[in-house]
Amino acid sequence: MKRLDQFRNIGIMAHVDAGKTTLTERMLYYTGLTHKLGNVDDGNTVMDSDPQEEKRGITISSAAITTYWKYQEDDYQINIIDTPGHVDFTAEVERSLRVLDGAVAVFDARAGVQPQSETVWHQADRYRVPRIVMINKMDRQGAYFQHVVKDIRERLHANVIPVQLPIGEEDNFRGVIDLIAMKALIWHNDDGKAFDIQDIPAEMLPAARQARTFLLEELSVLQESLLEQYTTDPDHISADDIRAALRAATVSLQAVPVLAGAAYRNKGIQPLLDAVAAYLPAPQDIPEVQATSADGDTPIMIPATPEGNMAALAFKIIADAYVGKLTLVRVYAGVMRTGDMLWNSRTSRSVRISRLLRIMSEKYEPATEIGAGDIGAVVGLKEVKTGDTLAHPDYPVLLEKINFPEPMIGYAIEAKAAKDADKLGDALAAMLDEDPTLSVEVDPASGQTILKGMGELHLEVVLEKLAASYQLQVNKDQPQIAYKEVFTRSITHREVFRKQNGGSGNFADISFELSPRPDNEPGLEFINDIKGGAIPKEFIPSVSKGFEAAMKTGVLEGFPVRSMRIRLLDGSIHPNDSHAQDFEQVAHIAFRNIAAQAVPRLLEPVMRVEVSTPEEYTGVLTGDLNKRRGVIRHMEMKNNLQDIVATVPLAELFGYVTTLRTLSSGRATAAVTFNDYQLK
Ligand code: GDP
Repeated sequence: MKRLDQFRNIGIMAHVDAGKTTLTERMLYYTGLTHKLGNVDDGNTVMDSDPQEEKRGITISSAAITTYWKYQEDDYQINIIDTPGHVDFTAEVERSLRVLDGAVAVFDARAGVQPQSETVWHQADRYRVPRIVMINKMDRQGAYFQHVVKDIRERLHANVIPVQLPIGEEDNFRGVIDLIAMKALIWHNDDGKAFDIQDIPAEMLPAARQARTFLLEELSVLQESLLEQYTTDPDHISADDIRAALRAATVSLQAVPVLAGAAYRNKGIQPLLDAVAAYLPAPQDIPEVQATSADGDTPIMIPATPEGNMAALAFKIIADAYVGKLTLVRVYAGVMRTGDMLWNSRTSRSVRISRLLRIMSEKYEPATEIGAGDIGAVVGLKEVKTGDTLAHPDYPVLLEKINFPEPMIGYAIEAKAAKDADKLGDALAAMLDEDPTLSVEVDPASGQTILKGMGELHLEVVLEKLAASYQLQVNKDQPQIAYKEVFTRSITHREVFRKQNGGSGNFADISFELSPRPDNEPGLEFINDIKGGAIPKEFIPSVSKGFEAAMKTGVLEGFPVRSMRIRLLDGSIHPNDSHAQDFEQVAHIAFRNIAAQAVPRLLEPVMRVEVSTPEEYTGVLTGDLNKRRGVIRHMEMKNNLQDIVATVPLAELFGYVTTLRTLSSGRATAAVTFNDYQLK
């Protein structure tokens, strides 16, 4: 088994189109595992292996691919976890950020910091993910390395330190200067395999010296080990000492090394792989993972070591056409082995690990064990869901759950061909397994199937996948908002349910108060205020269960009731005819009979919209938000950009991103997240 310090679990993050797919493909190629170069434009790259992703050219699901790279005589295992770039998929991004230790952030050398790179960058800040930056597309017209460096420093407040300078820009881009070794790396042709290490061209020496001085100055401020050498003998600091200092600064989030390249032209990839090994953290370099005891009460820290008790997080489910259901796991401690009986902390059931795989770029490789710090796939786990912890049965810890937001918009869908109805059901079931932010409900009133997700684009992608992977053509209605209902008055009521069918009968009788919840929390608050056992204890949970089931369908427009309180006051039973189901039933009937008198009102989801725009568009953009029933909450100038924070009903946000682009000539950006439910 590899040593912990030989693992790198990394993500590649970028704005759509910055070149993430091409770069990943090249990294896999140069690590020797992919034998033919794929081009995104031909749709045959490895990461985007879903046909539907190829079509869109954006990467949606977070697959994980294992590859190996030799750096300074040591063999590294790099697990590349794919992170999607689009805002609608931020839940996917957050999920992948949980399991990776470091990231390569790719920027387009012409475009600099773009909206999604900004959103993802801030998410990575939140999860404290160390990063290196790759400024890609140096061969493009208008590419300008220093502009992008400055842009990242100013807009993302990152302490970016170039470790390379590009040699030649646009068509002349031929290589990079390594500012640590003070050598030029030149690629003579586009196949990229071989590059020469040469002296720095004379005309670039002054710029290289200046950039190296900047690097050393910045690092010696951050790393004491370097400060002394830098002040006494700056000309003789060894490359290894500089790298060690840069590694420490990167891992502790104090610095971000910056590299240059052109993935499409196969330039700059090998040094990037070296930098992944040199600067990004190994599993033991990141803080210990916080877990709790299975009941969630006692915090437990999980140190990354193969010696400890096994604890792994299931972070992704993939339905694979060949091997079936794959559960991707990150092992945090201990070793997962085939034949293990593990414990699923959510379901409190045993799980047998019968087959393990590593996902390589072109094949699955069987594995007998996945150790601490590593990522792999378990075949055929039926009951395991995304976010579940698998642990040693004697040590049933719970790793921090991944919280997914509730879906907020939906389409009523049906298979175009009636004969496909069952097939659609099966396909949706498989897709729900893979994507925890998707849900499917049947509207009790219309009997329609409602597909719900995080946003317009999310659902569009799902529908395209149904067509591409399952050959299912689907009709869809207008997008529907996930409204909810809430009560505004209290009422008390008595309901008696009695049925006589020949010999045996059914009987239940309850008196209760239905009211809004004083604490306004979601769900049912059930209080049993019965004195003297008018209803035996064993029937009480059935009453609560009955109300809970009933509130799934409100009486106003049939939307779920977000929150209500029931106080059970009194009741009675029949000595022979009362059963638990009768008390469930009576609660249900009572709710239908009287809920309307508690004055239900509609609640609508309201989103938080954070816009960042050059100042000149502030007026038109706030005007547009006002038209959408938006309320401006906060305005602030930051780095020459106006930040506007508003809350806007989701119902008014269809097509917002397109409008925003049009109104600001593509220069404003927005992040839209759920805020709360408000009375409509
Ligand atoms: P992603 O959306 O970030 O995954 O980006 P892709 O890898 O799909 O790349 C988007 C487009 O940019 C494709 O047409 C690529 O061929 C092109 N591209 C990627 N890297 C480079 C590069 O270094 N130079 C040039 N000229 N084009 C590139």
